[in-house]
Amino acid sequence: MPDLRLPTDTIVLPDKDRFLNEENPFEAMMSRFDRAAQLLDLEPGIYKVLRHAEKEITVSIPVMMDSGEVEVFTGIRVLHNTSRGPAKGGIRFDMNVSLDEVKALAAWMTWKCAVVNIPFGGAKGGVICDPHKMSVGELERVTRRYTSGIMATLGPDSDVPAPDVNTNERVMAWLMDTYSMHKGYTVNAVTTGKPVEMGGSLGRREATGRGVMLTALQALEHLKMPVKGATVAVQGFGNVGSIGAQLLAEAGCKVIAISDRTGGWYYPKGFDVPDAMSYVKQHKTLEGYGKGDAMTNEQLLEVEVDVLVPAALENVITTKNAEQIKAKIICEGANGPTTAAADSILDAKGIFVVPDILANAGGVTVSYFEWVQNRGGYYWTEQTVNDRLREIMVNSFREVLKLSQQHKVNMRTAAYMVAISRVATVHRLRGIYA
Ligand code: GLU
Repeated sequence: MPDLRLPTDTIVLPDKDRFLNEENPFEAMMSRFDRAAQLLDLEPGIYKVLRHAEKEITVSIPVMMDSGEVEVFTGIRVLHNTSRGPAKGGIRFDMNVSLDEVKALAAWMTWKCAVVNIPFGGAKGGVICDPHKMSVGELERVTRRYTSGIMATLGPDSDVPAPDVNTNERVMAWLMDTYSMHKGYTVNAVTTGKPVEMGGSLGRREATGRGVMLTALQALEHLKMPVKGATVAVQGFGNVGSIGAQLLAEAGCKVIAISDRTGGWYYPKGFDVPDAMSYVKQHKTLEGYGKGDAMTNEQLLEVEVDVLVPAALENVITTKNAEQIKAKIICEGANGPTTAAADSILDAKGIFVVPDILANAGGVTVSYFEWVQNRGGYYWTEQTVNDRLREIMVNSFREVLKLSQQHKVNMRTAAYMVAISRVATVHRLRGIYA
């Protein structure tokens, strides 16, 4: 039985460590926020409010393991800001979950929902565990106990989770069932990313990858680069990376490098993406795929391509490798793949970056559609979902691009400016409740 417990002091970083580390996700997010806030001349009161999370919850999750032993996991849920609507954001199961990371990701969700102008605030949650070493039964018990631990915050009008790293539709089904059992009736709008059979939206599974494809195509158009034959490298072959790769290939691009946590493959003629997807369906990972040349995840980032899509985890583009990146466009499928310190290196190299809060907002946008459908009890066709997603992604890209040109700032700073000004406006209108 692996020891899945972590002492609490590894998840609550003291302030001195939190603010010294340039690669720290909370600090990376906050330094971008600070820059945009400065350019917007944000008043000190709202600045102070937005620099804090509204609510941070940490719960112990005792679980009876299959071995008959009791393990105690740690679960976290952070609500960063709910001024524009219910808190929205995924739940991840991962050994690297920490309060600091969840706080950063929760704030990211606030900006993400605001940049595409959907009426949600930002939240994130996580359980420190290694789901790859757990049985389905253990995962179900962790999910249910975590859900009951954070019960007080959950609800269609207060806090609406979704899948994230290592969680999926099945986890959302358990979460929805646990919440509904406590209520005494079925509440499907308490979570999104559910199986379609129980109120999930058509197109939700593909939505983040579809948003990545749509924003990458917008970037190519803006730079007057032809879509046909544009070369693409995708890091991460999960839900976001694989669908993003597939849709970009369908649009005419050539996907020449792909990878997952087991390593990558380089094939300059262009992968048959559905073939790689069915390999992964059968073998779980890309290990042993054997098409083209094997490469590491680090090498993949440095391949000469038109579009690089980092669609795995945080902090993969850093001051250590930014100089070596040869892509013309980076479209951030993951949350926080670029450290704050690496931004200026990418700018100096003239790389056009579609930032995470815009590039991967397709997922939460269709989560919003799912919540709307649940509440209305009326379900849309996949075509309607995809058309409305396209409209939101394309309009948001153009809005951010326009602001970046007006203020002569990069797309990331412009996206933060759009998002922060929307959140700040609501704070001004609502005022401070005393
Ligand atoms: N976990 C996804 C994200 O980071 C989706 C969140 C949601 O749909 O609420 O954007």
